[in-house]
Amino acid sequence: MVENNRTICNCCGRELKRCGTRYEDHLHIIKNWGYLSVQDGIAEEMDICTECLENWERTFVIAPQKYQMTELL
Ligand SMILES: [Zn+2]
Repeated sequence: MVENNRTICNCCGRELKRCGTRYEDHLHIIKNWGYLSVQDGIAEEMDICTECLENWERTFVIAPQKYQMTELL
């Protein structure tokens, strides 16, 4: 989440480090819930640091698919 020009992990509340205009890599999610969903018409946005993401993924029954990228952004 962005608060006072700082990006903060929604899970642990830690401020993400910034180098110039870029923040340390993290998961940024924007979800616009659609018709017939429980949250119909709600837009949701969150930032998750890599440490919290790893902990979260350990709770998954099926691990996310991961693969090597050929071009780095
Ligand atoms: Zn975190």
